[in-house]
Amino acid sequence: MRHFPGFFAVSGRPVLVVGATPAAAAKARLATAAGAVVRHVAGPDEDQALPPPVLAFIATGAGAVDAAHAATLRARGVPVNVVDAPELSDFLVPAIVARGDVVIGISTGGAAPVLARALRERIEQVLPARLGALADLARRWRQRVGERIRDTLARRRFWERALAGPVASLVAAGEDAAAELAFAAALEGSATGAPATGAVQIVGAGPGDPDLLTLKALHALQTADVVLHDELVGAEILALARRDALLVPVGRRRGWQVMTPENCHALMVGHARTGRQVVRLKGGDPNVFGRAGEEVAALREAGIAVTVVPGITAALGCAAAIGMPLTQRGIASNVTFVTGQMAAGSDAPDWRALAGRGQTLAIYMGLATAAELQGRLLAAGLDRATPVAIVARGTLPDQRVSYGSLATLPALAALHRSGEPALLFVGEVVRLAAGHAAVADLAQAS
Ligand code: SAH
Repeated sequence: MRHFPGFFAVSGRPVLVVGATPAAAAKARLATAAGAVVRHVAGPDEDQALPPPVLAFIATGAGAVDAAHAATLRARGVPVNVVDAPELSDFLVPAIVARGDVVIGISTGGAAPVLARALRERIEQVLPARLGALADLARRWRQRVGERIRDTLARRRFWERALAGPVASLVAAGEDAAAELAFAAALEGSATGAPATGAVQIVGAGPGDPDLLTLKALHALQTADVVLHDELVGAEILALARRDALLVPVGRRRGWQVMTPENCHALMVGHARTGRQVVRLKGGDPNVFGRAGEEVAALREAGIAVTVVPGITAALGCAAAIGMPLTQRGIASNVTFVTGQMAAGSDAPDWRALAGRGQTLAIYMGLATAAELQGRLLAAGLDRATPVAIVARGTLPDQRVSYGSLATLPALAALHRSGEPALLFVGEVVRLAAGHAAVADLAQAS
């Protein structure tokens, strides 16, 4: 982010527009619409005697003249925008979507105004036309709601419900009077003083690429009071959480030495009991090697409402990322998600049943145990030539893929950084991956 977003308070205050061009006229109109007292002049000299404007727009049509005017005004302490010249400007004018007082500004930092305009068109399409009327209603009630519901958290809950439910539908339908009544009734009903009850959503964040979040996961993040997140969840996804949500890492590797599952359960229960909306954010899908079962049980036992929002599990994300099907007619009729951690002997899978012709294995947490896995799979009767792929940090910008065979699996694993999240695929489908033919067997080549 190269520019700090903000909105200038220009209502009733002087704004200077310099230049006799259509671009200057457009800025004059915009400033007038925001309530500014616009002074439209040919050059800043004409304006010198007057009190300094809060902002100035310059568009004379001549670059050198613009630059000189900008310097003059800046010397007088006036923030300047030179139209179409971000390098000469103190602030940029974004592409704007406006619904009354609801205003969305889109900036690309001057890099690609066309991209900003394309985004504006998309946002224009999805925003209800009467959003401004809804904001007007909120403004009219703001003070009364504040007096009636003192608790900040309860108040936000109220607004969230009120602005999403029937009131919003009525405003959207143009039934402003009915909306007003519905709002009054909602406020009446909310002021019983009962403390808000929190809830926990266990949310899958997908394999890494933020675009692979579900809409439901995004919504949960944007309404959360607290986000307890795994370490695997990246900064780009955490940035989508509500701005003043409390973000708490609950990974065991870094920071929280003492974050046992029990501690994490206690944290979720504690936050929910104080009325907060808690999101427990996990990599991939919570129900796939994600301990969601234990967390759901602990929350149910504590009497806390809990729901699970599914995510794209690493096997699915990684397969798509390397252009590989997991099943294919005539090649593989099943796919198994299995963990490569075989520490607990009783939990060790029956590899003989899982591996073989026509089967695809997607092995989680198998990088560190690659040599042992190779031994087990060979012992289970799998051909040494069975193709293998390793996808590390799949779907992320620094994804790394290597291809080989069961015979070279340990060497292949050694090509990756130990400890990074990686998925091992074993089976004939690996030959169908987009990059397979090109790299053949990386481990053998090295
Ligand atoms: N619940 C998660 C899995 C948690 S176990 C899910 O459904 O995906 C952690 C393991 O998942 C890692 O050791 C790795 O094997 C795998 N994994 C998670 N993210 C990954 C990614 N972006 N690329 C490759 N493997 C990943």
